[in-house]
Amino acid sequence: MEFVDTHAHLTDEAYNEDLIETLERAKSVGVTKIITMGDTVENSAASLRLAEEYSGIFAAVGVHPETAAEWDKNSAEKLYELAKSEKVVGIGEIGLDYYWEKDEEKKELQRKIFIEQLRLAKELNLPVCVHDRDAHGDTLKILKTEGKGVLGVCHCFSGSYEMAAELFKMDFYIGVDGPLTFKNAAKLPEILAKSPKDRVLLETDSPYLSPAPMRGKRNEPANIPHIAAKLAEIWNASVEEVAEITTGNAKRLYQKTA
Ligand SMILES: [Zn+2]
Repeated sequence: MEFVDTHAHLTDEAYNEDLIETLERAKSVGVTKIITMGDTVENSAASLRLAEEYSGIFAAVGVHPETAAEWDKNSAEKLYELAKSEKVVGIGEIGLDYYWEKDEEKKELQRKIFIEQLRLAKELNLPVCVHDRDAHGDTLKILKTEGKGVLGVCHCFSGSYEMAAELFKMDFYIGVDGPLTFKNAAKLPEILAKSPKDRVLLETDSPYLSPAPMRGKRNEPANIPHIAAKLAEIWNASVEEVAEITTGNAKRLYQKTA
């Protein structure tokens, strides 16, 4: 069995003490590939350094909406340079976060840098990893217009089935992580039951969002099988089948991991 953790933050200080053991634990349960996300230009460079050091780690580079204020006139150029590396498999994580940001001017800045990074992805022919929190309408609108032709995933999907269906029409994927295993997972199991299996990616968002048995503790890529088990239950499939399908999906979207 082989899994890809398509969304983690391995540069987080939570792994300062035991990154090697964390990677070993992941490998021991079949998580052979991990994509670590950038959230600032500086952190994107650090993510790439980590990917260059470990064969099973790949990087995405990008500026997260929560750090939009850091964006300057050189950011796009710097990300472009980083993205040329063989180990950079996508642009992320980028998007909109209206949960943490209520200021209209700052939301406008988030939209501006989201659009700039979608253009970058198009130019580089790379997929995007999209963060959308409480901003479903604007995220979809921007992906359909400025992001037209760019492929990607809405990570930690929290929208409706109608939104998922719109994304599938655009050949987008949805990413599922720990919250699927929570008792209050709301509509997500129902949405996944109806979603085409070739559009779903597994991810942990480590060190955040630990799945149910570890809820509240530091998350890590080795927890992917807990999410896979829940998805297997929803799909009425075996964990092996879920591994095969989602790993195939990850390699189809993030081609440089294949
Ligand atoms: Zn993340």
